[in-house]
Amino acid sequence: CCNSRRKPEWLKIKLPKGQSSTEVLNIVRKHNLHTICTSGMCPNQGECWGNRTATFMIGGDVCTRSCKFCNVKTGRPAPLDPAEPENIANSVKLLGLKHAVITSVDRDDLADLGAAHWVKVIEAVKRENPETTMEVLIPDFQGRQELVQQVINARPEVISHNLETVRELSDGVRSRAKYDISLQVIRQVSESGIVSKSGIMLGLGETREQILQTMDDLLAVGCKVMTIGQYLQPSEANLEVKEYVTPETFKEYERIGLEKGFRYVESGPLVRSSYHAEKHVR
Ligand code: SF4
Ligand code: SF4
Repeated sequence: CCNSRRKPEWLKIKLPKGQSSTEVLNIVRKHNLHTICTSGMCPNQGECWGNRTATFMIGGDVCTRSCKFCNVKTGRPAPLDPAEPENIANSVKLLGLKHAVITSVDRDDLADLGAAHWVKVIEAVKRENPETTMEVLIPDFQGRQELVQQVINARPEVISHNLETVRELSDGVRSRAKYDISLQVIRQVSESGIVSKSGIMLGLGETREQILQTMDDLLAVGCKVMTIGQYLQPSEANLEVKEYVTPETFKEYERIGLEKGFRYVESGPLVRSSYHAEKHVR
């Protein structure tokens, strides 16, 4: 019988190649940095790295959480690298990035959950690259508003925090994170005047109604930008893909999202949180 879960044609991954990709790789390696592009096995590496765009992942490459969709290693992370803020800032400069995207693993092991390190990175990037705009994709900081506020006070142009999936699937897909806590983080960002952004993956078994409800929930907390992409199972240990959503359906969600009131909706099979991020600054 046909295998409905076989990867469709539109999800063929373009491997990174060409001079720009090699340059990105060299800069990342030389500075002892990590990218979610490789840690997350992102299908867009060919395109993004070819355009000298990458998403840095700070705080190491080991996460204290173990979300069932995620390919990042779980365990006890190493101490923070005090040189990381400068290394990120220099890499942004060497890559000549107009817009830098930075994310992190969750550091539930640290007293401040990594907030002060986040601030140091944002400040270093700004200091070394005054013309560069920045998007930071932050963890929920366990809903501790004073920690979210520290990141807000560092004034990156965009702060994103992903819901990852609809409310009904949230507890089974994410580790420790709660749908309502995430909405509260996004609300706090929106109220600060910084552009707030969030994203979900499709193909985990969510319904159309639940997706539309998620849009409403995000709009209700002032979220301006939404990304919607296809979940791809990164390894046997991760959740199975329940459905491959067609490019046409993704387009339809984009149209609906814009009608509902988002400023930008990036919706497509290969869309990731950081895909085309430079467009979302204003
Ligand atoms: Fe990296 Fe984001 Fe591009 Fe994927 S979409 S390759 S994570 S910058
Ligand atoms: Fe992955 Fe979850 Fe850790 Fe984020 S918090 S890096 S999604 S395991």
